[in-house]
Amino acid sequence: MASITLENLTKSYGDTEVLHHVHGQIEDGEFIVVVGPSGCGKSTLLRMIAGLETITGGQVHIGDRVVNDLEPAQRDIAMVFQNYALYPHMTVRENMAYGLKIRKFSKAEIEARVREAAEILEIGDYLDRKPRQLSGGQRQRVAMGRAIVRHPKVFLFDEPLSNLDAKLRVQMRLEIRKLQKRLGVTSIYVTHDQVEAMTLGDRLMVLNKGYVEQFGSPIELYSRP
Ligand code: ADP
Ligand code: ADP
Repeated sequence: MASITLENLTKSYGDTEVLHHVHGQIEDGEFIVVVGPSGCGKSTLLRMIAGLETITGGQVHIGDRVVNDLEPAQRDIAMVFQNYALYPHMTVRENMAYGLKIRKFSKAEIEARVREAAEILEIGDYLDRKPRQLSGGQRQRVAMGRAIVRHPKVFLFDEPLSNLDAKLRVQMRLEIRKLQKRLGVTSIYVTHDQVEAMTLGDRLMVLNKGYVEQFGSPIELYSRP
């Protein structure tokens, strides 16, 4: 597990700065939701932390390491995407095992981790199915399984529920929250949905036009004028 420090982070595309001096200290085990309207820079911020986007200025610390120059695979993070990003030709089991296989984990370790994740997520019954044979909610669980088996220090969620219908979204929200508290993994979750943000976040980082407007617990934010 790890704390995360965002220190004066900026991002420019060409001459246009889209994130301006983002600052924030995230505690070990905390669940942070980054919320704001479309285009405010949420996804860019997350991708910079993941190492999928270069950092124009400032630093990202995970634990006691500055990760600016580390490859994504060296950052001890796992990311869950909106479109699940599952491999269609692989079974659920293979999808979950893949990231460990390419990292040369032993067969026994892979098996143990897949079994553990399948139990936590209650997806043990369809380990041999392909993604297309699953419902949206089941696919999202598998996507989370693929993140969990990595035993990362940090989870990053990029609007993971926005493809699901409203009822399932509420259910999965509760499941993600429970799961995160059970595993205690420091998490950053991006969404444009304010209700989702309030339900999930220990604290909310409110972004607007690339600026952090507020950073606090739901109660703090709502008791302010
Ligand atoms: P959000 O996730 O909040 O919807 P993004 O992080 O995707 O916002 O985008 C923030 C801003 O950066 C937007 O104005 C977007 O148009 C711009 N942007 C994102 N990616 C690129 C890119 N590859 N090149 C140029 N501008 C980009
Ligand atoms: P890799 O071969 O490095 O695992 P991937 O295509 O799986 O490549 O992902 C690209 C990068 O995104 C990886 O280096 C990995 O560290 C990072 N990543 C974050 N979360 C995940 C995840 N749930 N599954 C796979 N890769 C992830």
